[in-house]
Amino acid sequence: MQSIQEIKSGFGREDVRLVAVSKTKPVEEILEIYNQGQRIFGENRALELEEKARKLPSDIQWHMIGHLQRNKVKNVVPHVDMIHSIDSIRLAAEVNKQAKRIDRVIPCLLQIKIAKEESKYGFDLQQLLDWLGTGQWKDMAHIEFAGVMGMASFVPDMGIVREEFRYLKQCFDELQSRIFRDYASFREISMGMSGDYQVAIEEGSTMVRIGTLIFGERNTHQG
Ligand SMILES: *Cc1c(COP(=O)(O)O)cnc(C)c1O
Repeated sequence: MQSIQEIKSGFGREDVRLVAVSKTKPVEEILEIYNQGQRIFGENRALELEEKARKLPSDIQWHMIGHLQRNKVKNVVPHVDMIHSIDSIRLAAEVNKQAKRIDRVIPCLLQIKIAKEESKYGFDLQQLLDWLGTGQWKDMAHIEFAGVMGMASFVPDMGIVREEFRYLKQCFDELQSRIFRDYASFREISMGMSGDYQVAIEEGSTMVRIGTLIFGERNTHQG
């Protein structure tokens, strides 16, 4: 396990933000990391995020990083500061609807399938371009389209992982130039976890999601 400062000093770039992935970890352990100065925490379950947000200091920024079911959107929308895992148009529509009800605008990332295998969730680039090209997203005034997110294959071969991250950066560039040219808020590339964040940063990540390296191993395997 490494301290927040140790991890950040290894980034080599000032503009990379760290999401401390606290899923399955109790509030006491999260407070310890909070006391090291960390303010952005990531969860992958809606009800767990809601519960922790209610218990922990209000200056924590909660990021939803895992697959979000539409019937749980209303639980996270009051508490979440960014959703990394918009993986369908119907989910985007529901986030917009629930955010509107409570008069919030939620920064959201479009999750793109970049792994060759084992990726259940996320858009294909073409699917995204088709939808975004219709301009319908502009009616979703309660979503701030803030960038993209992807998960690389869980394999030891960093060559494969690097290629997948490079592909996500290309997707980002294409969406930025073709769709979001005039939207300064479209700027985040969320990629990189404990095992591959250095490669992700070399390939242009602006946000890494690190759990194990900060909190230690999780008992249960989740997401
Ligand atoms: C669990 C999780 C992480 C963090 O994984 P570690 O290997 O523990 O750093 C990052 N992103 C997502 C989407 C996750 O579910």
